[in-house]
Amino acid sequence: MYLLPKKALKDWLLKLASDYEVFVPRSPEGFGPYEGELYLKGKTKLSAKEFFLPWREEILSFEARPGAIPSPVFFEPERERVVFGVRPCDAKGVTLIEKVFQHDPFFQKRREKTLLLGLVCREPGRECFGWAMGVNPFAGEGLDALFLEGEEGYLVKLLTERGRKLLESGPFEEAEETASEVFRRAEEEFLARHQKAPALEKLKGADLLKIYEADFWEALALPCLNCGTCTFLCPTCYCFDVQDEVVGTEGVRVRLPEACMFEIYSRHASGHNPRRSPVARFRNRFLHKFKYFLDQYGEPLCVGCGRCNEECPAGINLWEVIRAMSTV
Ligand code: SF4
Ligand code: SF4
Repeated sequence: MYLLPKKALKDWLLKLASDYEVFVPRSPEGFGPYEGELYLKGKTKLSAKEFFLPWREEILSFEARPGAIPSPVFFEPERERVVFGVRPCDAKGVTLIEKVFQHDPFFQKRREKTLLLGLVCREPGRECFGWAMGVNPFAGEGLDALFLEGEEGYLVKLLTERGRKLLESGPFEEAEETASEVFRRAEEEFLARHQKAPALEKLKGADLLKIYEADFWEALALPCLNCGTCTFLCPTCYCFDVQDEVVGTEGVRVRLPEACMFEIYSRHASGHNPRRSPVARFRNRFLHKFKYFLDQYGEPLCVGCGRCNEECPAGINLWEVIRAMSTV
């Protein structure tokens, strides 16, 4: 366990920027390159997911002529990237996406080139419920190091070899024995006050067909505008579209985020759409998160960040849906 004095944080980040590309939360909106501004009051609207599934990623380049062989385009930054100030729930979100993208070379390349440094939230935000989804903010899943803000400075727990190497260069002091105790106590207190939602256990064993056919979906989905805000902001949603962009004889294939809430997302080339109605798309989003993924991987596809509840223009609350699903 190490200690970073509070006033040394900014100088350390600047120093890091000579060897790495350094990103930080710059405002409540999201992350950006470190240029002296830091927003550490709470989570940002956009999560760290965009470092792994960016808004536009070139994956192939090709000559637009018959018989031409396409070449994969891999993300190759000049320097490795460090992202500081990642909230533990968002880092956990990256690990959930990774279960699905574990053989995806584009995702993996980004993972390889990016170090994640987390920051424990001292108090959960208004809509946060990560603990209910089984996220322990002190465990640091998906992170290379975890920072806990204290009176004198940040207590730093190193979680990977890469994290250790990175921190060797900094103004870190070996923390006193009592520091580990402070960290452990903070974790114990948090876990004693915040427990996993029993609804998830019920959903694990529940009958999928019964939930699928339940009559509450129409009423719950009625206010939904199918706007996709919840899916684009969610740190665990990973649906994407692939499009070819051709200019003259040069083309690139790009991968872009897509939302299962949109009608076009599930429309087949034949014109048939198995999720033509808004209620079918709404149901699919929740079944994916709290049934299909839970059954397949043992964890829900949700880290309880609360962004969907905070930003939904129709006021849809995820807990109302989970409650309904778990009482079938
Ligand atoms: S943000 Fe709300 S209204 Fe928009 S798609 Fe999601 S649930 Fe529906
Ligand atoms: S479903 Fe909502 S609460 Fe859960 S991770 Fe996504 S945005 Fe956060």
